[in-house]
Amino acid sequence: MRKIDFHKIYLSGNEKKYIEDALNKGNLSGDGFYTKKVSEFLENKFDLIKVLMTTSATHALEMAAQLIDLKEGDEVIMPSFSFSSTANAVIKTGAKPVFAEVKLNNFNLDPADFESKITARTKAVIPVHYAGISCEMKEIKKIAKKNNIYIIEDAAHAVNSFYQGKAAGSMGDFGCYSFHGSKNFVSGEGGAIIINSDQHKLIEKAEIIREKGTNRSSFLRGEIDKYNWVGKGSSYLPSDILMALLLAQLEQIDYITKQRRQIFEFYNQHLEKFLNEDFLEIIPQIPEDRQSNYHLYYLKLKNQKIRDFILKKLRKKGIETAFHFQPLHASPMGKKLGYQKRDLQLTNDIAASMLRLPIYPGLSAADLNYIIAELRNIFLEIKQAGV
Ligand SMILES: *Cc1c(COP(=O)(O)O)cnc(C)c1O
Repeated sequence: MRKIDFHKIYLSGNEKKYIEDALNKGNLSGDGFYTKKVSEFLENKFDLIKVLMTTSATHALEMAAQLIDLKEGDEVIMPSFSFSSTANAVIKTGAKPVFAEVKLNNFNLDPADFESKITARTKAVIPVHYAGISCEMKEIKKIAKKNNIYIIEDAAHAVNSFYQGKAAGSMGDFGCYSFHGSKNFVSGEGGAIIINSDQHKLIEKAEIIREKGTNRSSFLRGEIDKYNWVGKGSSYLPSDILMALLLAQLEQIDYITKQRRQIFEFYNQHLEKFLNEDFLEIIPQIPEDRQSNYHLYYLKLKNQKIRDFILKKLRKKGIETAFHFQPLHASPMGKKLGYQKRDLQLTNDIAASMLRLPIYPGLSAADLNYIIAELRNIFLEIKQAGV
C-alpha cells in the first residue's frame, strides 16, 4: 500500500545555501539583506506599492486592524468560513467580527450578504480568497466604496493568485499574505502586509507598529540619526534567516505553481464525470477572469455522511485527506460572541461536506493515479451500495 501525505513542503534546493549565507552575513534579526530581497521580489512580481514582511499572516491582519484604528464599537464583516486569525485580529482591538455567508461556487464571501450586514458601525470588510481563487472583488469594492468601508484582503491562501490581472492582496486598502509551512511558498512561519497606498504617513505608521513602536525603519534608511519610541507597536518583523529560506522558495514560484496546476487539472479531468452522480456536487472551477495559485483541491459531497465515508476509506488506503475550516460562527468562541450554529446554514453545509485532496509538487504520477483509482472504487461502491 502507498502512503500519501496530505501535505509536504517543497524545497527548491537553495534554501540551505541562503540560510548559511544569512548566518555568515551575521545579521539574524529583522530587515536585513534577505528581508529586503523578498519584499522587493513581491513588490516587483505583483506590482505592489509597499510590502512589509511579517512573522505571519495573523500578524499582518493584526497590523491592518491597527492601521485603520479599529476599536470597540466598530464592526468588521468577514466570512465565517475562515481561519481564527481573520477574526482574532478584529477582536484584539475590541471591535466585533460580523460573520457573513460565502457563495457556493468558490466558497468566497457573498457580496450580497456582505452588503446586507452593513450597519452604521461597519468599518471594514475582510474578504478571504479561499483556496487561491479570488473573491468577486469588483462587487466587493463597489459596495465598500459606496459605504465608506475599508477592505483588508486575507490573501493567506492567495500568494500568486490574480483577479482581472490584479494580484490578490493588491486590490483592497491592505493585503495579508502567509508563508506558513502549510501554504504554497513557505518560511515555516511568516507573512507580509501589503499597503496599497503611497501615503507616506500610513506607511510610516505601519513601520512603527511593526518595529515595537519605534521609528527604527527611518533610522535604518538613514533618514534620522537615532531612533526612538514614538507610538504604539509590537514586534512583527521576521528574522532574516527565515527570509533567506523564503527567497529560495519565491525564486521557484512559477515552477511550484505549475506543478500544482498540473495536479489540479489532473483531478478535475478525472473527477468531472462524477459530477453527474448525485453524491458529488462540486469540484473547484476557476472563473475566466481569475488566475489561481492552486492552493487547495477540494470536493464538495452531497452530505457529511458521504464525506466522512470517503475520508475514512481513503485513509484506510494510506491516502491522507482533510476537511477544512470549522465555521467561526459555530465555534466555541463564535458562541461566546452570541452566534448560533443555525445562523449561517450554507457555511455549515459546506464545512460538513467538503473534503480536500493532497496537492503539492512532490506528488508523483503514480501517487496521483493511485488516488484517482481509489476514489473511483469508493465512488462505485457508493453508487452501488449507497452510504
Ligand atoms: C493560514 C491562514 C491564516 C494565518 O496565516 P499564518 O501565517 O499562519 O498566521 C490566516 N487566514 C487564512 C484564511 C489562513 O488560511
